[in-house]
Amino acid sequence: MDTNKSFQAVPSIPSYIKNRKELTSEMVKAYAKEHGADLVGIAPISRFSGAPPETHPLNMYPKAKSVVVLAGRILEGSFKGIQENADWSTYWIYGYGNGIYGPLTGAKELTRRYVESFGYEAMTSQGGHTMLPHESPPHRPPVAKGKLPSNVLLHMRLTAAAAGLGELGWSKVFLTPEFGPRQRFEIFLTDAELEPDPLYKENICTKCMKCVDACPGHALSKTKKVSIQIEDRVFEWGDVDLGKCKLTHWGLNELASPFVKKDMPGFKLNIDEQSMMWYQAYNFGMKLSKNSTYLNTMSTGFQEIGQGGRPGSVCGATGCIQACYEILKKTGKIGKNVRKEYEERQRLAALQKDNAKTGDTAVNDPSCTGCAGCGGTVSKGVEK
Ligand code: SF4
Repeated sequence: MDTNKSFQAVPSIPSYIKNRKELTSEMVKAYAKEHGADLVGIAPISRFSGAPPETHPLNMYPKAKSVVVLAGRILEGSFKGIQENADWSTYWIYGYGNGIYGPLTGAKELTRRYVESFGYEAMTSQGGHTMLPHESPPHRPPVAKGKLPSNVLLHMRLTAAAAGLGELGWSKVFLTPEFGPRQRFEIFLTDAELEPDPLYKENICTKCMKCVDACPGHALSKTKKVSIQIEDRVFEWGDVDLGKCKLTHWGLNELASPFVKKDMPGFKLNIDEQSMMWYQAYNFGMKLSKNSTYLNTMSTGFQEIGQGGRPGSVCGATGCIQACYEILKKTGKIGKNVRKEYEERQRLAALQKDNAKTGDTAVNDPSCTGCAGCGGTVSKGVEK
């Protein structure tokens, strides 16, 4: 009997279990970016100590040690359909829905697989967009006595803040130094203890109030503010009337939408007089949008591309994203890191082109670690 063979037949410990401890934050981030994320931040579970139970990660996944947040940029071109009055669905699909979440969710799912291949667990959360539990009642009652109402959802923007990606602007929209107010998030929780990112310490928001002035829903307060503290950083934003925001967002406010006058002649909705809560506005919009051909098309007609079931974001985030982005871009408050990365890529591409001409094969890159993964096209301080 070949004892060696029978020994080998016993399943050995897979290498990824043996290498469990080798997973680092840098590896997770590099993998996520390679697969489509623009930004990645990591929060330790301790930063959620003050979170309401309905948004607390440990109430979803008690073993969680780290929360990983991936961001995907909303492309500038996504607003053009509305700006040019050409196709009002482009922002809804490509800035809000499947067009942006398709690739971002793909990046997150692949990164979860990557993390699990090291022997850890990675649990996902779709996250909630804007609301804390007091702003909208839970969608479903608890499934059992003593349990929390379904579903427990992480607050996306506060989770992104806890992961060090930036801060909430006065508009309550999340701002990053790379893209200002233009990004969406995906989140997963893991039992891997990853090196966390520091909280973002600077201020991107200048409190210029352009978002308040430009919001056609008159939904942002100039004076009332909300603040929360995570470790030594206070995050604050202006109070948002979420009912007015929702009515406008779904195209029922004629200050933001041409479809009200067109498809519902005689219907008047004075946005300043509305006092609906978010969920009342949500239900009202679901019913009323069926009376507008265009709004109904946005909520039902795009199901074939995975974007339907509710009215679209017709206001195009005129104040909270567009006006804010314009002012931050103009004042140079954002995009520095993106420009730096872009310039570095340009520099390396130009060097490669030069080297190709002269027959040299190496690009002199100070960040080279000598791993040879590039096949010798990059080297540290070596002119080949
Ligand atoms: S427009 Fe942007 S920078 Fe200005 S107050 Fe609003 S969120 Fe802050």
